[in-house]
Amino acid sequence: MATPWISPHFRNSFRSLSLIGIILSGTLSPSAAAQTCGTHGVVAQVLGSGGPELQDKRASGSYLIWQDGESRVLIDAGGGSALRFGESGAQMSQLDVILFTHFHVDHSADFPALIKSSWFEDRRRPLPIYGPPGNDFMPSTTEFVADFFGPQRGAFRYLSELFTPDEQGSYKMQPHNVAAGSAPTGAFRNINLSASAVQVIHGGVPALAWRVEIGGKVIVFSGDTNGDGDGLVRLASNADLFVAHNAVPEDATGLERRLHMPPSVIGLIAGDAHVKSLVLSHRMLRTLGKEKQTQFEIRKHYSGPLQFANDLDCFPLQ
Ligand SMILES: [Zn+2]
Repeated sequence: MATPWISPHFRNSFRSLSLIGIILSGTLSPSAAAQTCGTHGVVAQVLGSGGPELQDKRASGSYLIWQDGESRVLIDAGGGSALRFGESGAQMSQLDVILFTHFHVDHSADFPALIKSSWFEDRRRPLPIYGPPGNDFMPSTTEFVADFFGPQRGAFRYLSELFTPDEQGSYKMQPHNVAAGSAPTGAFRNINLSASAVQVIHGGVPALAWRVEIGGKVIVFSGDTNGDGDGLVRLASNADLFVAHNAVPEDATGLERRLHMPPSVIGLIAGDAHVKSLVLSHRMLRTLGKEKQTQFEIRKHYSGPLQFANDLDCFPLQ
């Protein structure tokens, strides 16, 4: 439900009332006990394992990285992932950073829903958001955020307090465009983690793959790509976990092959990069049911652990 603009003062009062309600109901932190991936170590969680087709009954692309029960990194926010975010027990106020691979609908459509939900949390620090630059067909990351929340032309400009500098009473989104090439480029670092990216080929859409280093572990997300170039192998080098997109079958041709990597290419990249484990996500109707064939093609090049993801699956990094 849309909420009309309310003053920060009123909102804080509303929060106080909410807090009283929560205390009266006997639960101080309603989601604290609900983390679906546990409270210890580094865990990658798949929020959305499918998309864009809704008939796959999966949320579209989105991932969380947990550390000791805190939801620190969100990668992409495809349709349906906002609900999965809530189901996972994650909180927007815990996020250190949001990373976007690209701005196709099935990777970004639930972004405003997540931001709106955060309005009801008590976040008091900026929210860094990193993603690709734009071109004639796609917005840059800074444009994407402004297209939703910019004070003049944003579709949800009633929430522009979260976007416009110098207003008080809320946190600020801090979007950044990452102009990466085929060499891993550092984008974000804080005391908990670092994130670096390479450009990947996904038709004419500016797209990034992401490497997150956290708690001594390395997790790499391919995003959508046809696998051309050597950037992804460099980025995924010796990763503890490589999350790759199984969007097309081995015999894919035409546009779908120009956009996505078939299983043999996933296997080649995983093998060349010597990744320690592989998770396949972005499972579409054209790949669901073909897991045996997919595995067969990957096994020609990569022999480590391999799992097919479902929504809300947790992958702990030992
Ligand atoms: Zn895409």
